[in-house]
Amino acid sequence: MEVLVADKKGFCFGVKHAISLAEKLLAEGKKVYCLGDLIHNKQVVNRLSQAGLEVVENLDQIPSGAAPNQISGPIPTVLIRSHGCRPELAEEVKKRGFHLVDATCILVKHAQKIVSELDQQGYQVIIVGDPNHPEVQGVIGYAPDVLVVENENDLVKIPRSSKLAVISQTTHSAEDFGRIVGLIAMGSYEEMKVVNTICRETARRQDSAINLCQQVEVMFVLGSRHSANTRELANLCQRNGVETHHLQNWEEFSPDFVKDKHRAGVTAGASTPDWIIEEFVENLKAL
Ligand code: SF4
Repeated sequence: MEVLVADKKGFCFGVKHAISLAEKLLAEGKKVYCLGDLIHNKQVVNRLSQAGLEVVENLDQIPSGAAPNQISGPIPTVLIRSHGCRPELAEEVKKRGFHLVDATCILVKHAQKIVSELDQQGYQVIIVGDPNHPEVQGVIGYAPDVLVVENENDLVKIPRSSKLAVISQTTHSAEDFGRIVGLIAMGSYEEMKVVNTICRETARRQDSAINLCQQVEVMFVLGSRHSANTRELANLCQRNGVETHHLQNWEEFSPDFVKDKHRAGVTAGASTPDWIIEEFVENLKAL
């Protein structure tokens, strides 16, 4: 089997930064807690948890967290993952006397800052993305009335406003963002400002995958099914007319996927480690 691999794939700088911060804190012997999985990859999360990183769902699950500033023993460190969080949560971490280490990606921080500025300038802010995604839940905390639009069904929720500003979840596809912006524009708002907050790393991975789709008979997109950017990559490949399989690793591969095919493409989301991609490519080539 001939295998072509996307130029841009796998770990982005935001994910690498979060992992290296976690490794550094654990190597220093800190007791580190993370609110939710640090990244969308089971193997990496398991490796870090074996090294001592504890995943919790809320601050109350952190020992000594119930009573503000009443900590006995080593002070827990709370690591904010690259998705970021609401500002109130970061404040609460400090109020409880925990150490806060912020691994929020600089591009997510940029989106948070833009939301806050646009709100202060009097815009009704709209974010195009998944309302349940932790990044979106964090970003909407930066202004009181941010509205999330996931698809055309949500357009009716947009209030009449003379000043509208639209931004995107960083990992959303540019194609869908443009489509939703076009639909909103049909609402004839007096002023409509669009700020493209799609992350460069995501955009490059998407361009690279589209390029590959034109050269192969089947595409494999590697990454967790919880990873928004991996799902977007898989949807994009599918929309580009190529049979696409979103798999987490080689274990999910079936020879039926490449029956009667000679050339396959491989790409991976921003939280997929290199070794998973390399193992997959080597096994596929060997068929
Ligand atoms: S996908 Fe983009 S925004 Fe998200 S962590 Fe990576 S670099 Fe940052």
